[in-house]
Amino acid sequence: MARKNYKPKYIITYQCLNCGFDFALTEKEKPKCFYCESTENYIVIKKEKFTPQAIVNRLRISTDRMMEALKGAWQCRPKDTDKKIDKDFDGEKLLLEVMAKAKKLKDKIQSLKLEKKIKNKNRHKTF
Ligand SMILES: [Zn+2]
Repeated sequence: MARKNYKPKYIITYQCLNCGFDFALTEKEKPKCFYCESTENYIVIKKEKFTPQAIVNRLRISTDRMMEALKGAWQCRPKDTDKKIDKDFDGEKLLLEVMAKAKKLKDKIQSLKLEKKIKNKNRHKTF
């Protein structure tokens, strides 16, 4: 959420004691588990400086989990196509499309390189 003068100094990683997942927020945000939405029962497991590298690290963890979740969805998809409720809805195809998009996003994030800003206005942006 964009707010004026919003300059966090730290990224704090919490572990939710409700569901076991960890989630990271800046010190300016009220802790709330991304997974089970609990706002209590958590412990601080890591506190690091709010840097581009720290953000990229968290993004990598998030996209890894996203891929795992999608693989899980794929593995437990319904296989009995005769019992399709809606003939026009191809959930399997849709899931494959989502997985392909998620994979692309994951690959982009995994290959993110943090370059130091070069003060050259003619330099092309790579993304
Ligand atoms: Zn939780």
